[in-house]
Amino acid sequence: MPDDARTVTTRFAPSPTGFLHLGHVHSCLFAVNAAKAAVGRFLLRIEDIDPNRCRPEYEVMLKEDLAWLGFRWEEPVRRQSDHMGDYAAALERLAALGVTYPCFCSRKEIADEIARAGNAPHLVAMGPEGPLYPGLCRHLPREAAAARVAAGEPHAVRLDVAKATALTGPLSWHDHARGTVAADTGLLGDIVLARRDVRTSYHLSVTVDDAIQGVTLVTRGEDLFHATHVHRLLQALLSLPVPDYHHHGLLLNDRGERLSKRDGATGIRALRAQGLSAVDILRRAAGSAEG
Ligand code: GLU
Repeated sequence: MPDDARTVTTRFAPSPTGFLHLGHVHSCLFAVNAAKAAVGRFLLRIEDIDPNRCRPEYEVMLKEDLAWLGFRWEEPVRRQSDHMGDYAAALERLAALGVTYPCFCSRKEIADEIARAGNAPHLVAMGPEGPLYPGLCRHLPREAAAARVAAGEPHAVRLDVAKATALTGPLSWHDHARGTVAADTGLLGDIVLARRDVRTSYHLSVTVDDAIQGVTLVTRGEDLFHATHVHRLLQALLSLPVPDYHHHGLLLNDRGERLSKRDGATGIRALRAQGLSAVDILRRAAGSAEG
């Protein structure tokens, strides 16, 4: 934890899965402005845990675009793939609390189970992103599950949200846009903490990193609002400090719709190639960046 833990620290945390676009710049501006308003710190974090989708060349290009636009951040930049040990340690702590379980289900098995349970809708809980994991592996006998893990069977690790919530009791966080929000910890069901192929997940690594980096104000798009409910649970289980949050609106076009390909070029590379200046692009990205 940095000495100046009480200073407002924000971050922009893109995944290098493609070219930087106006939506990213909108989010980055929001984080930078929040830090500036509080004379705080601004960090950049590269969220590259998914080796199938992330490419080092995209990281190089996105940093170059951000620098060209005039953004400045503190070095060193935290790159998630360099810190797998931190996520493994957090996973071990959660396992020691008895709130995790191995999940051997393939995507197809999960989909089949949801389809089967679809005939009995009371068995399929719906989340904001679709049906929740139906809990097939939650009640496997512990020893049998451990033997399968020891035998090297591929598996994810999931959070038993009901057990975890029973340990922590009710939780809330302070959201600059919404005030005090009561955490609905089961909103996403038994989330994956470690994937089969990568021994962490978005939820685990983001929560751990925000704490390690001393982020005191997490700014991110409204589309990630539902994730905060379970991040709050992970913070409580891991005894991590609780940042404030500000979920900002997404960039809209002139008609008030979410920006899409139909609005023409949104990629910063393409806009630069068209001859737009950094100021032009920042103005376009600002949109309704006040949230
Ligand atoms: N890496 C995530 C994204 O690119 C953002 C994560 C976050 O801000 O918590 O959507």
